[in-house]
Amino acid sequence: MKFLITGGAGFIGGNFVHYMVNKYPEDMIVNLDKLTYAGNLETCKPVEDKPNYKFIKGDIADREFIFDLFEKEKFDVVVNFAAESHVDRSIEDPEIFVKTNVMGTTTLLDACVKYGIKRYHQVSTDEVYGDLPLDRPDLFFTEETPLHTSSPYSSAKASADLFVLAYHRTYGLPVTISRCSNNYGPYHFPEKLIPLIISRALNDETIPVYGTGENVRDWLHVYDHCTAIDLIVRKGREGEVYNVGGHNERTNLQVVKTVLKALNKPESLITFVEDRKGHDRRYAIDPTKLETELGWEPKYTFDTGIPMTIQWYLDNKEWWENIISGEYQNYFEKMYVEK
Ligand code: NAD
Repeated sequence: MKFLITGGAGFIGGNFVHYMVNKYPEDMIVNLDKLTYAGNLETCKPVEDKPNYKFIKGDIADREFIFDLFEKEKFDVVVNFAAESHVDRSIEDPEIFVKTNVMGTTTLLDACVKYGIKRYHQVSTDEVYGDLPLDRPDLFFTEETPLHTSSPYSSAKASADLFVLAYHRTYGLPVTISRCSNNYGPYHFPEKLIPLIISRALNDETIPVYGTGENVRDWLHVYDHCTAIDLIVRKGREGEVYNVGGHNERTNLQVVKTVLKALNKPESLITFVEDRKGHDRRYAIDPTKLETELGWEPKYTFDTGIPMTIQWYLDNKEWWENIISGEYQNYFEKMYVEK
């Protein structure tokens, strides 16, 4: 089979490309990425010489380019990771989130309808469900939870999900959607919480924590997200949504303290900063459907995945040091220091 994987120079798409290229040498993996600030070809280095891998630079929202590509490449399956993914950036500049996350998705869907793709998979997020109260640990997001977004990022992702489901109902396109909780692991851009803590703590720099740090996130190792998507693409029922999560809820403050302890760094590095606008309180996924219907189970817990991830950042300093030395440093100062 020939796969188009979009956003494969980013964090999760990059991990998925590695996983697919190595696990299925008989399948062809085409990685399409615009190489925005978040895309990094260094992430694709481990697979770039494999015979079943090819990289193409391009924009999923460029209609002419996408239709030409589909005409030429004759894909069987499309897995769409490409997105603007950072909530803080969506608060500063929402428009590009509509362009890439919504219009990029509809462009891919139109091409899939025209070229009779066998499966379109949309990589979505639990943020489409909004948030849960902190004082109700008994509540979880299920696939039936109404969409109730908080940020421009999650609103664009939810819009894309609705288009995906509409293309199934209206045109009979064979689609699936996965909605996953927060990921961590190798090749994560250093603006996101866990790599940010690791990279700054190693340099003895302050760690910004929003508000009081009580917001709860549900963490999953990126490898387990990859196995879930692989399973859903191959065995998931058309037109269905599957939640992905491993019941690893932690407050942001707990996450920061866990990483600082593992690195033997003092908690005095923690600096509380003004809370994010519209900050979601708690995310918590109920993955029962994926577990019972498709037999998925995660390999890692937070306690086993975090030490492994820290070790990866220690062993691959060059990968993240190159990123934080450039333009990203100016962005960081503007967002979290100057305010
Ligand atoms: P990322 O920002 O690390 O990577 C996104 C990639 O998409 C980058 O390589 C970027 O260059 C590329 N891209 C952006 N705009 C593009 C365009 N117009 N055309 C082609 N490529 C483009 O993001 P990530 O954290 O790896 O997230 C990947 C997907 O998973 C996103 O759709 C996100 O919504 C979803 N998701 C992320 C998480 C998480 O915890 N990070 C959790 C659940 C779902």
